[in-house]
Amino acid sequence: MSEQIERIKTLIIGSGPAGYTAAIYASRADLKPVMYTGMEPGGQLTTTTEVDNFPGYPDGIDGPTMMVQLQKQAERFGTEVRIGMVTSVDLSDEVGGIHKVTVDNDQVIEAESIIISTGASAKYLNIPSEQRLRGGGVSACAVCDGFFYKGQEVAIVGAGDTAAEEASYLANICKKVTMLVRKDYMRASKAMQHRVNSLENIEVRYNTEVDEVLGEQVVEGLRMVNNVTGEKEDIAITGLFIAIGHKPNTDIFKGQLDMDETGYIITEGKSTKTNKPGVFASGDVQDKEYRQAVTAAGTGCMAALDAERYLASVGSTEEVTANS
Ligand SMILES: Cc1cc2nc3c(=O)[nH]c(=O)nc-3n(C[C@H](O)[C@H](O)[C@H](O)COP(=O)(O)OP(=O)(O)OC[C@H]3O[C@@H](n4cnc5c(N)ncnc54)[C@H](O)[C@@H]3O)c2cc1C
Repeated sequence: MSEQIERIKTLIIGSGPAGYTAAIYASRADLKPVMYTGMEPGGQLTTTTEVDNFPGYPDGIDGPTMMVQLQKQAERFGTEVRIGMVTSVDLSDEVGGIHKVTVDNDQVIEAESIIISTGASAKYLNIPSEQRLRGGGVSACAVCDGFFYKGQEVAIVGAGDTAAEEASYLANICKKVTMLVRKDYMRASKAMQHRVNSLENIEVRYNTEVDEVLGEQVVEGLRMVNNVTGEKEDIAITGLFIAIGHKPNTDIFKGQLDMDETGYIITEGKSTKTNKPGVFASGDVQDKEYRQAVTAAGTGCMAALDAERYLASVGSTEEVTANS
Protein backbone atom coordinates (compact mmCIF):
# COMPACT_ATOMS: atom_id res chain seq x y z
CA MET A 1 0.00 0.00 0.00
CA SER A 2 1.36 3.41 -0.97
CA GLU A 3 2.24 5.72 1.97
CA GLN A 4 1.23 8.98 0.33
CA ILE A 5 -2.32 10.20 0.64
CA GLU A 6 -3.51 12.80 -1.81
CA ARG A 7 -6.48 15.05 -1.02
CA ILE A 8 -8.59 16.43 -3.84
CA LYS A 9 -11.77 18.48 -4.11
CA THR A 10 -13.63 16.49 -6.71
CA LEU A 11 -13.04 12.96 -7.88
CA ILE A 12 -14.81 11.75 -10.99
CA ILE A 13 -15.07 7.98 -11.39
CA GLY A 14 -15.61 6.93 -15.01
CA SER A 15 -14.80 8.47 -18.39
CA GLY A 16 -17.98 8.15 -20.46
CA PRO A 17 -20.17 11.07 -21.60
CA ALA A 18 -21.43 11.60 -18.03
CA GLY A 19 -17.93 11.68 -16.50
CA TYR A 20 -16.48 13.99 -19.15
CA THR A 21 -19.41 16.40 -19.04
CA ALA A 22 -19.12 16.52 -15.25
CA ALA A 23 -15.38 17.15 -15.74
CA ILE A 24 -15.96 20.06 -18.14
CA TYR A 25 -18.34 21.78 -15.72
CA ALA A 26 -16.33 20.94 -12.59
CA SER A 27 -13.04 22.18 -14.03
CA ARG A 28 -14.61 25.39 -15.30
CA ALA A 29 -15.97 25.92 -11.78
CA ASP A 30 -12.43 25.47 -10.41
CA LEU A 31 -13.21 22.24 -8.55
CA LYS A 32 -9.89 20.85 -9.87
CA PRO A 33 -11.37 17.48 -10.78
CA VAL A 34 -9.32 14.34 -11.04
CA MET A 35 -10.86 11.62 -13.20
CA TYR A 36 -10.12 7.92 -13.17
CA THR A 37 -10.98 6.34 -16.52
CA GLY A 38 -11.56 2.73 -15.45
CA MET A 39 -11.16 -0.31 -17.70
CA GLU A 40 -12.91 1.28 -20.66
CA PRO A 41 -11.46 4.78 -21.23
CA GLY A 42 -14.13 6.78 -23.07
CA GLY A 43 -16.92 4.43 -21.98
CA GLN A 44 -19.47 2.52 -24.02
CA LEU A 45 -19.39 4.80 -27.05
CA THR A 46 -15.88 3.60 -27.83
CA THR A 47 -17.49 0.29 -28.83
CA THR A 48 -19.61 1.82 -31.59
CA THR A 49 -18.68 3.19 -34.99
CA GLU A 50 -21.43 5.70 -35.69
CA VAL A 51 -23.11 8.12 -33.29
CA ASP A 52 -25.81 9.91 -35.26
CA ASN A 53 -28.00 11.32 -32.55
CA PHE A 54 -25.71 13.39 -30.34
CA PRO A 55 -26.67 17.06 -30.88
CA GLY A 56 -24.07 19.19 -32.62
CA TYR A 57 -22.72 16.64 -35.08
CA PRO A 58 -24.81 17.14 -38.25
CA ASP A 59 -22.86 14.46 -40.15
CA GLY A 60 -22.62 12.04 -37.20
CA ILE A 61 -19.36 11.07 -35.56
CA ASP A 62 -17.70 7.82 -34.65
CA GLY A 63 -17.84 6.99 -30.95
CA PRO A 64 -14.08 6.86 -30.18
CA THR A 65 -13.47 10.23 -31.90
CA MET A 66 -16.29 11.84 -29.96
CA MET A 67 -14.85 10.61 -26.68
CA VAL A 68 -11.34 11.89 -27.53
CA GLN A 69 -12.89 15.29 -28.22
CA LEU A 70 -14.72 15.24 -24.88
CA GLN A 71 -11.46 14.37 -23.13
CA LYS A 72 -9.63 17.25 -24.84
CA GLN A 73 -12.42 19.64 -23.87
CA ALA A 74 -12.27 18.55 -20.23
CA GLU A 75 -8.44 18.76 -20.16
CA ARG A 76 -8.54 22.24 -21.68
CA PHE A 77 -10.09 23.52 -18.44
CA GLY A 78 -7.70 21.60 -16.20
CA THR A 79 -9.27 18.19 -15.57
CA GLU A 80 -6.58 15.67 -14.70
CA VAL A 81 -7.38 12.42 -16.47
CA ARG A 82 -5.69 9.36 -14.99
CA ILE A 83 -5.75 5.76 -16.11
CA GLY A 84 -6.84 3.65 -13.18
CA MET A 85 -9.63 1.67 -11.65
CA VAL A 86 -11.31 2.57 -8.38
CA THR A 87 -11.26 -0.71 -6.48
CA SER A 88 -12.88 0.25 -3.17
CA VAL A 89 -14.46 3.22 -1.41
CA ASP A 90 -15.06 4.31 2.16
CA LEU A 91 -17.74 6.98 1.96
CA SER A 92 -18.27 9.39 4.84
CA ASP A 93 -21.70 9.89 6.42
CA GLU A 94 -20.81 13.40 7.60
CA VAL A 95 -21.69 16.61 5.80
CA GLY A 96 -18.28 18.03 4.87
CA GLY A 97 -16.69 14.63 5.60
CA ILE A 98 -13.81 13.21 3.61
CA HIS A 99 -14.34 10.16 1.40
CA LYS A 100 -11.54 7.64 0.98
CA VAL A 101 -11.05 5.90 -2.32
CA THR A 102 -8.53 3.23 -3.28
CA VAL A 103 -7.25 3.08 -6.85
CA ASP A 104 -5.86 -0.12 -8.37
CA ASN A 105 -5.84 -1.74 -4.90
CA ASP A 106 -2.91 0.48 -4.03
CA GLN A 107 -3.18 4.24 -3.94
CA VAL A 108 -5.52 5.89 -1.42
CA ILE A 109 -7.08 9.23 -2.32
CA GLU A 110 -9.13 11.49 -0.09
CA ALA A 111 -11.90 13.42 -1.83
CA GLU A 112 -14.20 16.15 -0.57
CA SER A 113 -16.74 15.27 -3.24
CA ILE A 114 -17.19 12.38 -5.65
CA ILE A 115 -19.07 12.12 -8.93
CA ILE A 116 -19.84 8.51 -9.84
CA SER A 117 -20.23 7.92 -13.60
CA THR A 118 -19.35 4.25 -13.88
CA GLY A 119 -22.12 3.39 -16.36
CA ALA A 120 -23.99 0.17 -16.90
CA SER A 121 -22.60 -2.56 -19.13
CA ALA A 122 -24.87 -4.27 -21.64
CA LYS A 123 -25.01 -8.03 -21.23
CA TYR A 124 -24.08 -10.10 -24.25
CA LEU A 125 -24.57 -13.78 -25.07
CA ASN A 126 -20.79 -14.25 -25.10
CA ILE A 127 -20.66 -16.66 -28.00
CA PRO A 128 -17.66 -16.24 -30.35
CA SER A 129 -19.56 -15.23 -33.51
CA GLU A 130 -21.52 -12.57 -31.58
CA GLN A 131 -18.34 -11.13 -30.04
CA ARG A 132 -16.58 -11.08 -33.44
CA LEU A 133 -19.44 -9.15 -35.08
CA ARG A 134 -19.99 -6.58 -32.34
CA GLY A 135 -20.01 -3.27 -34.20
CA GLY A 136 -20.44 -5.18 -37.47
CA GLY A 137 -24.19 -5.64 -37.14
CA VAL A 138 -24.44 -6.91 -33.58
CA SER A 139 -25.61 -4.16 -31.21
CA ALA A 140 -26.93 -3.89 -27.68
CA CYS A 141 -28.83 -0.66 -28.36
CA ALA A 142 -31.79 -0.61 -30.75
CA VAL A 143 -32.55 3.07 -30.15
CA CYS A 144 -28.92 3.91 -30.99
CA ASP A 145 -28.35 1.66 -33.99
CA GLY A 146 -31.80 0.65 -35.31
CA PHE A 147 -31.81 3.50 -37.81
CA PHE A 148 -28.91 1.94 -39.73
CA TYR A 149 -31.16 -1.05 -40.57
CA LYS A 150 -34.05 0.94 -42.01
CA GLY A 151 -36.12 -1.25 -44.36
CA GLN A 152 -34.00 -4.33 -43.57
CA GLU A 153 -34.62 -7.62 -41.75
CA VAL A 154 -33.23 -7.88 -38.22
CA ALA A 155 -33.51 -10.09 -35.15
CA ILE A 156 -33.63 -9.30 -31.44
CA VAL A 157 -32.81 -11.55 -28.49
CA GLY A 158 -34.65 -11.08 -25.19
CA ALA A 159 -37.98 -11.50 -23.49
CA GLY A 160 -38.33 -8.69 -20.96
CA ASP A 161 -39.90 -5.24 -21.16
CA THR A 162 -36.79 -3.69 -22.70
CA ALA A 163 -36.62 -6.37 -25.41
CA ALA A 164 -40.33 -5.92 -26.18
CA GLU A 165 -39.94 -2.12 -26.25
CA GLU A 166 -36.91 -2.35 -28.53
CA ALA A 167 -38.62 -4.90 -30.81
CA SER A 168 -41.55 -2.48 -31.23
CA TYR A 169 -39.12 0.37 -31.91
CA LEU A 170 -37.34 -1.70 -34.58
CA ALA A 171 -40.64 -2.78 -36.13
CA ASN A 172 -41.37 0.87 -36.96
CA ILE A 173 -38.10 1.16 -38.89
CA CYS A 174 -37.30 -2.30 -40.21
CA LYS A 175 -39.02 -4.55 -42.72
CA LYS A 176 -39.17 -7.53 -40.38
CA VAL A 177 -38.11 -8.27 -36.79
CA THR A 178 -37.60 -11.84 -35.58
CA MET A 179 -37.72 -11.96 -31.79
CA LEU A 180 -35.93 -14.87 -30.11
CA VAL A 181 -37.40 -15.84 -26.74
CA ARG A 182 -35.54 -18.55 -24.81
CA LYS A 183 -38.52 -19.85 -22.84
CA ASP A 184 -42.02 -20.67 -24.01
CA TYR A 185 -43.29 -17.36 -22.66
CA MET A 186 -42.24 -13.72 -22.50
CA ARG A 187 -41.27 -12.00 -19.23
CA ALA A 188 -42.48 -8.63 -20.53
CA SER A 189 -45.62 -7.07 -19.07
CA LYS A 190 -48.93 -8.05 -20.63
CA ALA A 191 -49.24 -4.58 -22.15
CA MET A 192 -45.82 -4.87 -23.83
CA GLN A 193 -46.59 -8.39 -25.06
CA HIS A 194 -49.81 -7.11 -26.54
CA ARG A 195 -47.90 -4.36 -28.34
CA VAL A 196 -45.41 -6.86 -29.77
CA ASN A 197 -48.14 -9.26 -30.86
CA SER A 198 -50.13 -6.49 -32.51
CA LEU A 199 -47.29 -5.56 -34.85
CA GLU A 200 -47.50 -7.62 -38.02
CA ASN A 201 -43.83 -7.43 -38.90
CA ILE A 202 -42.63 -8.95 -35.59
CA GLU A 203 -42.35 -12.72 -35.54
CA VAL A 204 -41.84 -14.14 -32.05
CA ARG A 205 -39.97 -17.46 -31.91
CA TYR A 206 -40.37 -19.15 -28.52
CA ASN A 207 -37.94 -21.78 -27.14
CA THR A 208 -35.41 -20.34 -29.54
CA GLU A 209 -31.79 -19.31 -29.00
CA VAL A 210 -28.88 -18.07 -31.08
CA ASP A 211 -26.70 -20.91 -32.27
CA GLU A 212 -24.40 -18.77 -34.41
CA VAL A 213 -24.32 -15.33 -35.98
CA LEU A 214 -23.47 -15.74 -39.66
CA GLY A 215 -21.11 -13.48 -41.62
CA GLU A 216 -17.39 -12.71 -41.70
CA GLN A 217 -17.05 -8.91 -41.48
CA VAL A 218 -20.73 -8.01 -41.08
CA VAL A 219 -23.88 -9.85 -40.04
CA GLU A 220 -25.43 -11.73 -42.95
CA GLY A 221 -27.68 -14.16 -41.15
CA LEU A 222 -28.57 -16.01 -38.00
CA ARG A 223 -28.58 -19.70 -37.16
CA MET A 224 -31.31 -20.27 -34.59
CA VAL A 225 -31.78 -23.41 -32.52
CA ASN A 226 -34.99 -24.65 -30.95
CA ASN A 227 -33.95 -25.64 -27.41
CA VAL A 228 -36.73 -28.25 -27.15
CA THR A 229 -36.39 -30.08 -30.49
CA GLY A 230 -32.74 -29.20 -31.21
CA GLU A 231 -33.78 -28.18 -34.72
CA LYS A 232 -31.66 -25.48 -36.37
CA GLU A 233 -32.80 -22.89 -38.87
CA ASP A 234 -30.97 -20.14 -40.77
CA ILE A 235 -32.53 -16.79 -41.55
CA ALA A 236 -31.09 -13.86 -43.50
CA ILE A 237 -30.68 -10.71 -41.39
CA THR A 238 -28.36 -7.72 -41.42
CA GLY A 239 -28.65 -6.70 -37.77
CA LEU A 240 -28.83 -8.57 -34.47
CA PHE A 241 -29.89 -6.72 -31.32
CA ILE A 242 -29.12 -8.16 -27.92
CA ALA A 243 -31.64 -7.03 -25.29
CA ILE A 244 -30.98 -9.34 -22.35
CA GLY A 245 -30.28 -6.65 -19.77
CA HIS A 246 -27.62 -4.35 -18.37
CA LYS A 247 -25.44 -4.60 -15.29
CA PRO A 248 -24.77 -1.29 -13.52
CA ASN A 249 -21.12 -0.98 -12.49
CA THR A 250 -21.85 -0.46 -8.80
CA ASP A 251 -20.31 -3.45 -7.00
CA ILE A 252 -17.73 -1.28 -5.20
CA PHE A 253 -20.50 0.92 -3.72
CA LYS A 254 -22.67 -1.92 -2.41
CA GLY A 255 -23.59 -1.57 1.27
CA GLN A 256 -22.73 2.14 1.23
CA LEU A 257 -25.02 3.70 -1.36
CA ASP A 258 -28.75 3.18 -1.73
CA MET A 259 -29.53 1.15 -4.85
CA ASP A 260 -32.61 -0.35 -6.42
CA GLU A 261 -33.10 -4.11 -6.63
CA THR A 262 -31.06 -4.31 -9.84
CA GLY A 263 -28.09 -2.32 -8.50
CA TYR A 264 -28.74 1.11 -10.04
CA ILE A 265 -27.80 3.98 -7.69
CA ILE A 266 -30.80 5.87 -6.34
CA THR A 267 -30.58 9.65 -6.55
CA GLU A 268 -32.70 12.15 -4.67
CA GLY A 269 -35.59 13.73 -6.58
CA LYS A 270 -34.44 15.58 -9.66
CA SER A 271 -30.90 15.95 -8.30
CA THR A 272 -27.85 13.69 -8.61
CA LYS A 273 -27.44 13.45 -4.82
CA THR A 274 -26.95 9.99 -3.35
CA ASN A 275 -27.63 9.10 0.29
CA LYS A 276 -24.04 10.15 1.22
CA PRO A 277 -23.29 13.87 1.52
CA GLY A 278 -20.93 15.03 -1.23
CA VAL A 279 -21.37 11.90 -3.36
CA PHE A 280 -23.26 12.34 -6.64
CA ALA A 281 -24.21 9.89 -9.40
CA SER A 282 -24.69 10.65 -13.08
CA GLY A 283 -25.24 8.78 -16.33
CA ASP A 284 -26.35 5.22 -16.92
CA VAL A 285 -25.26 4.12 -13.42
CA GLN A 286 -28.38 5.87 -12.07
CA ASP A 287 -30.64 5.67 -15.12
CA LYS A 288 -32.11 2.44 -16.38
CA GLU A 289 -34.81 4.24 -18.31
CA TYR A 290 -33.10 6.31 -21.04
CA ARG A 291 -29.46 5.15 -21.25
CA GLN A 292 -28.35 7.56 -23.98
CA ALA A 293 -25.16 9.57 -24.36
CA VAL A 294 -27.01 12.87 -24.31
CA THR A 295 -28.99 12.03 -21.16
CA ALA A 296 -25.79 10.78 -19.49
CA ALA A 297 -24.08 14.06 -20.42
CA GLY A 298 -27.04 16.02 -19.05
CA THR A 299 -26.84 14.37 -15.66
CA GLY A 300 -23.03 14.77 -15.70
CA CYS A 301 -23.60 18.51 -15.92
CA MET A 302 -26.12 18.29 -13.04
CA ALA A 303 -23.68 16.32 -10.88
CA ALA A 304 -20.94 18.94 -11.31
CA LEU A 305 -23.38 21.73 -10.41
CA ASP A 306 -24.59 19.74 -7.40
CA ALA A 307 -20.97 19.13 -6.31
CA GLU A 308 -20.11 22.80 -6.72
CA ARG A 309 -23.07 23.86 -4.56
CA TYR A 310 -22.28 21.21 -1.97
CA LEU A 311 -18.63 22.27 -1.69
CA ALA A 312 -19.66 25.92 -1.40
CA SER A 313 -22.17 25.02 1.34
CA VAL A 314 -19.56 23.17 3.42
CA GLY A 315 -17.07 25.99 2.95
CA SER A 316 -14.48 24.22 0.84
CA THR A 317 -11.98 26.78 -0.35
CA GLU A 318 -8.92 24.59 -0.04
CA GLU A 319 -6.37 24.24 -2.76
CA VAL A 320 -5.54 20.67 -3.69
CA THR A 321 -3.22 19.32 -1.03
CA ALA A 322 -1.34 16.45 -2.56
CA ASN A 323 0.66 14.04 -0.45
CA SER A 324 -0.52 15.45 2.89
C1 LIG B 1 -23.07 -0.52 -28.94
C2 LIG B 1 -23.61 0.73 -28.32
C3 LIG B 1 -23.94 1.80 -29.13
C4 LIG B 1 -24.46 2.95 -28.58
N1 LIG B 1 -24.76 3.99 -29.41
C5 LIG B 1 -25.28 5.12 -28.90
C6 LIG B 1 -25.64 6.21 -29.75
O1 LIG B 1 -25.50 6.14 -30.99
N2 LIG B 1 -26.16 7.30 -29.17
C7 LIG B 1 -26.36 7.41 -27.81
O2 LIG B 1 -26.83 8.45 -27.34
N3 LIG B 1 -26.05 6.39 -26.98
C8 LIG B 1 -25.52 5.26 -27.49
N4 LIG B 1 -25.21 4.20 -26.66
C9 LIG B 1 -25.49 4.36 -25.23
C10 LIG B 1 -24.37 5.19 -24.60
O3 LIG B 1 -23.13 4.66 -24.95
C11 LIG B 1 -24.52 5.24 -23.09
O4 LIG B 1 -25.80 5.69 -22.73
C12 LIG B 1 -23.48 6.19 -22.48
O5 LIG B 1 -22.18 5.85 -22.87
C13 LIG B 1 -23.57 6.22 -20.95
O6 LIG B 1 -22.59 7.07 -20.48
P1 LIG B 1 -21.99 6.98 -19.02
O7 LIG B 1 -20.99 8.08 -18.95
O8 LIG B 1 -23.08 6.94 -18.03
O9 LIG B 1 -21.29 5.56 -18.91
P2 LIG B 1 -20.29 4.71 -19.86
O10 LIG B 1 -20.17 5.27 -21.23
O11 LIG B 1 -20.75 3.31 -19.71
O12 LIG B 1 -18.90 4.88 -19.12
C14 LIG B 1 -18.65 4.30 -17.89
C15 LIG B 1 -17.22 4.61 -17.51
O13 LIG B 1 -16.99 4.20 -16.16
C16 LIG B 1 -15.73 3.57 -16.08
N5 LIG B 1 -15.72 2.74 -14.88
C17 LIG B 1 -16.53 1.71 -14.54
N6 LIG B 1 -16.18 1.20 -13.34
C18 LIG B 1 -15.11 1.95 -12.90
C19 LIG B 1 -14.30 1.93 -11.74
N7 LIG B 1 -14.49 1.05 -10.75
N8 LIG B 1 -13.29 2.85 -11.64
C20 LIG B 1 -13.09 3.77 -12.61
N9 LIG B 1 -13.85 3.83 -13.73
C21 LIG B 1 -14.84 2.93 -13.88
C22 LIG B 1 -15.59 2.83 -17.40
O14 LIG B 1 -14.23 2.53 -17.68
C23 LIG B 1 -16.17 3.89 -18.35
O15 LIG B 1 -15.17 4.81 -18.72
C24 LIG B 1 -24.66 3.05 -27.18
C25 LIG B 1 -24.32 1.97 -26.35
C26 LIG B 1 -23.79 0.83 -26.90
C27 LIG B 1 -23.40 -0.32 -26.01
